[in-house]
Amino acid sequence: MTKGERGMELWKLTVHEAHELLKRREISAVELTKVVLDRISQVEGKVKAFLTVTDEIALKMAEEADKRFAEGENITPLTGIPVAIKDNMCTKGIRTTCASKILYNFIPPYDATAVAKLREAGAVFVGKTNMDEFAMGSSTEFSGFHPTHNPWDLERVPGGSSGGSAAAVAAGECLAALGSDTGGSIRQPAAFCGIVGMKPTYGRVSRYGLVAFASSLDQIGPMTRDVTDCALLLNVIAGHDPKDSTSIPQPVPDYTTALVPDVKGMKIGLPREYFGEGIDPKVAEVVMQVARQLESAGAELIELSLPTTEYALAAYYIIAPAEASSNLARYDGVQYGYRAPVSEDIVTMYSRTRSEGFGHEVKHRIMLGTYTLSAGYYEAYYLRAAKVRTLIRQDFERAFQQCDVLLTPTSPVLPFKLGERTDDPLLMKMSDICTIPANMAGLPAINVPCGFLDGLPVGVQFIGKVLDEPTILRVAYTYEQISGYRNLLAPL
Ligand code: GLN
Repeated sequence: MTKGERGMELWKLTVHEAHELLKRREISAVELTKVVLDRISQVEGKVKAFLTVTDEIALKMAEEADKRFAEGENITPLTGIPVAIKDNMCTKGIRTTCASKILYNFIPPYDATAVAKLREAGAVFVGKTNMDEFAMGSSTEFSGFHPTHNPWDLERVPGGSSGGSAAAVAAGECLAALGSDTGGSIRQPAAFCGIVGMKPTYGRVSRYGLVAFASSLDQIGPMTRDVTDCALLLNVIAGHDPKDSTSIPQPVPDYTTALVPDVKGMKIGLPREYFGEGIDPKVAEVVMQVARQLESAGAELIELSLPTTEYALAAYYIIAPAEASSNLARYDGVQYGYRAPVSEDIVTMYSRTRSEGFGHEVKHRIMLGTYTLSAGYYEAYYLRAAKVRTLIRQDFERAFQQCDVLLTPTSPVLPFKLGERTDDPLLMKMSDICTIPANMAGLPAINVPCGFLDGLPVGVQFIGKVLDEPTILRVAYTYEQISGYRNLLAPL
């Protein structure tokens, strides 16, 4: 595709398409960045995907990228590409709020490792995206600032907690974005917004500089408009980092070599627990069609069972809040962030800061986590949840003796209306039943768009073995070639 064909609609390009034009110097990074910033000013009033738009920084970064192209040096597939970053990743000199009032004024003095890697690759940062406060939620309605709207239907949620990143990618407000996924926060919003989103293996991408929610589950990953872009982004951000002791000391393969449209002989497992109770039958049917199409392409379908799936949600809601209650103890108004204007004693200052700074959902989780970790309850709750987690991991290990990859819905339901689930915490949390098990087991998983119901996107999830991102990329890529569902841009 040439510049002439796309006209001023350069924001419609995928990362790899834009890279071709940049490399051939048919467009400049500054030109591309300006078009994307214009697009942001046109649609952001409706979508509200961002907490901070960094126009000036973006233009400077674009100029530097153009210098690299002029000199023909240091050119990577991300050089000059406008990207957005979820607001729970530290960005040097750029406000990082976690969508919380308690961090409304926090300007990190350093970059998260994933952010630093993007910067080194020459990417252009257009802004920081909205999210549920401290990544706790499934709809982006629990942002401490404002909700984000689903670009496919502005009355509906974009999913969460990386809803701002997902909406920005689907609305053309960036070409790709980073999200984070503790229980589904990359994959579920990717499904709701019709884009590709991957949670890599736990430890594949450094968590250094990612504001911690539940440290044993958190993982950063790419949110893109097609599978190729996902592989390109993963190439940049993956890798061992001495600053994160949980990062895996393994070399990073070139993930683009997995982009082969071939699933002949691949064994695809269909866990029955993901197609039954709690799953909208219409969604399950669309996802089953993906399995049939892959079967026609030469894959073998294997029905199997992951029996502990039904306990995953309950165990997650013990483990994640427990870790969160300890991680969030640091927000006390002393060193950074919001401080309540209190002139009495320090304890009153702590307490007022935290009760005014945190939103309802965050406080709820801190209390839950503090309770389940307290003496006398630890064994009954936390320890039991940790044991369930082992059982979940063993379930997957058994399944992967029979198959190479698992295929499931990403979300049990279609994008719901704003406000529909905010008063029903259980219903909100049910949004994550298909995504949480992969976090509990540390496995890589990807969402790929697989069709529409009532004009709303539906996503399919592929879950792989530890460090087997190449296989889920290959099956995702093959399906993308068959279906043609790639680079879907919401009509705005
Ligand atoms: N929705 C889940 C939660 O609220 C997952 C969030 C996430 O992955 N960050 O905990």
